[in-house]
Amino acid sequence: KQGSTTDDSNTGFIFDLPNAKMGEVVTRFPPEPSGYLHIGHAKAAMLNQYFAKGYKGKLLIRFDDTNPANEKEEFEKTITEDLEMMEIVGDSLSHSSDYFDLLADYAVKIIKEGNAYADDTDGARMKQERMDGIPSKNRDKSPEESLAIFEEMRKGTEEGQRWCIRAKISVDDPNKAMRDPVIYRCNVANVHHRTGDKWKIYPTYDFCCPILDSIEGVTHALRANEYRDRNVQYAWFQTALGLRPCTIWDFSRLNFNYTLLSKRKLKKFVEEGMVWGWDDPRFPTIRGLRRRGMTAEALRAFILGLGASQSILQLEWDALWATNKKVIDPVAPRYYAIEKQDSVKVTIRGGPAKAETKEMPRHKKNPAVGTKQTVYASDILLEQQDAKSLSEGEEITLMDWGNAIVRSIQKSPAGVVESIEMDLHLQGDFKKTEKKITWLACSSDAPPLLNAELVDFDYLLTKKKIEEDDDWQSFVTPTTEFRKAAFVDSNCKVLEKGTIIQFERKGYYILDAIEDAGLVFFLVPDGKMATVASK
Ligand code: ATP
Ligand code: MG
Ligand code: MG
Repeated sequence: KQGSTTDDSNTGFIFDLPNAKMGEVVTRFPPEPSGYLHIGHAKAAMLNQYFAKGYKGKLLIRFDDTNPANEKEEFEKTITEDLEMMEIVGDSLSHSSDYFDLLADYAVKIIKEGNAYADDTDGARMKQERMDGIPSKNRDKSPEESLAIFEEMRKGTEEGQRWCIRAKISVDDPNKAMRDPVIYRCNVANVHHRTGDKWKIYPTYDFCCPILDSIEGVTHALRANEYRDRNVQYAWFQTALGLRPCTIWDFSRLNFNYTLLSKRKLKKFVEEGMVWGWDDPRFPTIRGLRRRGMTAEALRAFILGLGASQSILQLEWDALWATNKKVIDPVAPRYYAIEKQDSVKVTIRGGPAKAETKEMPRHKKNPAVGTKQTVYASDILLEQQDAKSLSEGEEITLMDWGNAIVRSIQKSPAGVVESIEMDLHLQGDFKKTEKKITWLACSSDAPPLLNAELVDFDYLLTKKKIEEDDDWQSFVTPTTEFRKAAFVDSNCKVLEKGTIIQFERKGYYILDAIEDAGLVFFLVPDGKMATVASK
């Protein structure tokens, strides 16, 4: 049984690898530079790093750039940056395209040895034949004939373009991955971002991966278990080509509710303008998650915490965000924000005649977070919702200040609170009040409040689990962005883009942008995310 849980106190592994020797393990992460990394890739990368480190071995990063139709330099760059952000650094970096000559030599070898043949069966028919276990009409082509065609393909001639090369494994193996998979195909339409127009033929992942893993010294090839059917095929190629075998270790594919984890589909969102870009805070990309306030630490803890279970995981985002909350809560500085709409001016009698400031901790339980200057004045602002909850004569607590007694409340005919008067009552016991209210000083001699936008998001999809044959585009949530204007604490002036804070009684926020019109904060989910229905 692979990946059994172990309490091995020598290694401290929460799960282990079969046939692994300390100091000799080599793993690899092979992203295709065809999009940005998403959380599924993060799992793959982190597991590879985990075992490489744990066994004091090596982690190889290999860009699997064998399909120029999808791949771009830009994606390589961002994948590299995202790996760095997750503190994943390979011991070496390579590209499948570094080996195009070698791979073509292996294609020649496998054809010569009678283990592959050239085929010009059209795509639809080939698919049907593979389904039905029917041999291709070209299956018995001689190696010489197939080699001659491979050379035509290599030149990209019109004749060559009609053909592909298929491994001769089986016609009707119950495992369809074994039914003569394609190993080389022509592509003259696209220019490769590294090798330009030098090549007209490109190997498939099925062919390339077992060869390069073996050549590059990989001992343990970790793959998501959606490829499990292809494990025998992988081993077949290594045997057929006389290559050193690698141990395959499957881990479960990661899926999240209301989410598509497929670069191809995410790309569609980007291209159709349904999101702002690959780093959209609603996206399951590493960048999107980070922009929404996810920490590298929480991501790692969460992914490794999933363990080695083999069942395909369908997870709740809340579970990940709850892990993140544990990371950010002890260090996020606290500030106040007041929603602008119908905010209520309160006159505090017995308050300071002139605005005063006092040094207060940014985090009551963690002095390392530093201090802020809280402003006290005789005019303050409350949120409409808080103001509405008050009644005349009630004693409340103004947070970080003290108690006050509500004396009068003025309302519009429609019932909207317009202004309030309170008497400060600092001798009152805050333990005895029911309402602890956030507020901001707004007198003319207080430092001006800052304008801000508080932004919350909904899931991009309305359906929890998108099935393979669903038309996912019919489950796109119409509105997923919710903005509220707010005044925020003048202390927020020092915040840098990307800082995670807490607006007390509201939640955690990450500062996304500092614009002329104000600060833009995104709500960081805390593990209790609501869908739009309940917002
Ligand atoms: P996508 O389908 O999103 O394009 P991919 O599987 O084609 O992803 P690659 O860049 O080819 O992505 O894969 C890099 C690694 O990430 C592979 O080892 C792959 O198994 C793994 N991986 C991709 N998606 C997931 C996922 N949802 N859960 C776990 N691992 C994944
Ligand atoms: Mg892929
Ligand atoms: Mg995939």
